[in-house]
Amino acid sequence: MMARRGTVITQRALAKLNLVLRIRGRRSDGYHEIDSLMHTIGLADDVSVVLRPGLAVQCTGADLPGGESNLAYRAARLLAEACRGRRPAGALIRIRKRIPVAGGLAGGSADAAAVLSLLNEAWACGLPWDELLLLARRLGADVPFCLLGGAARATGIGDRLQPLEPRPGVPVVLIAWPEGLSTAEVYRVYDQLNPPSTARVEPALEALAAGDWRALGAALANDLQPVVEVLRPETRAARADLLTCGALGAAVTGSGPTVFGIFSSAERARRAARDLSGRWPIVITTELAARGLGSMRTNTWARGDGP
Ligand code: ATP
Repeated sequence: MMARRGTVITQRALAKLNLVLRIRGRRSDGYHEIDSLMHTIGLADDVSVVLRPGLAVQCTGADLPGGESNLAYRAARLLAEACRGRRPAGALIRIRKRIPVAGGLAGGSADAAAVLSLLNEAWACGLPWDELLLLARRLGADVPFCLLGGAARATGIGDRLQPLEPRPGVPVVLIAWPEGLSTAEVYRVYDQLNPPSTARVEPALEALAAGDWRALGAALANDLQPVVEVLRPETRAARADLLTCGALGAAVTGSGPTVFGIFSSAERARRAARDLSGRWPIVITTELAARGLGSMRTNTWARGDGP
């Protein structure tokens, strides 16, 4: 049954990490084929929908447009088209951004996936899972993973998913920047530089399945990392800093610039974050997450705040 006008429903839109990102090649349409081990983390935007006529998006916590150029808006419009005949109501979509924008954490994709699942329910569209996944693919390569959540091996342009057992609770520290990097620009420079592909997914898959965090730390890898280090040289020092502070491994996620490290205990991660927070613009402690976990320990510090 369609929810009543004025009803508010909220969902956490969880970010992702690429524990490994291998670039397999460039397709004739310009997209890149990848092989990636992706995992949801506890860092999330809050997305809520208020049922009312018309369609609008309001963002707080980041300077993002509310209209057509917001991926959440496009998700709602695509769903409304797919549900035509079932006369969907409108919605005001409110997004409280916590995921750094253009950070390689799929924040926009996470919001879009949350809107698809929230409005499919609130508008009583009743689209089955596979149809929602098709809409997600049309919105962007990372949206299907965000809809699925947990852990998965992603191939194709990142939209073909093999779900894996997630490993919630592994402590993670992120170093992020207020200014992101454009994914298109990172891939453009990647094509120019054409660095050799060194990232391999298999060792990380084995480490994740075995729960061997030391091996997982050693297996973190990203073929875009050398390019991100050209465009944002301080990411190299940030990665080294995470390792000095006790990370089992550290890498760039997605097209950067966010750098992450995994830790053997929450206490070690917390101590590292305290040391790092004086030196880097944004330091966030979080953890690998299964889909939809309610309460996760996630803290953000701007430069200079101690935890
Ligand atoms: P991707 O790798 O998918 O490009 P990302 O994690 O690097 O993702 P996002 O935070 O998803 O980056 O933002 C990418 C771009 O999308 C930004 O330049 C931003 O202006 C635009 N965008 C549109 N809607 C949103 C949204 N709801 N949240 C964040 N960014 C959005």
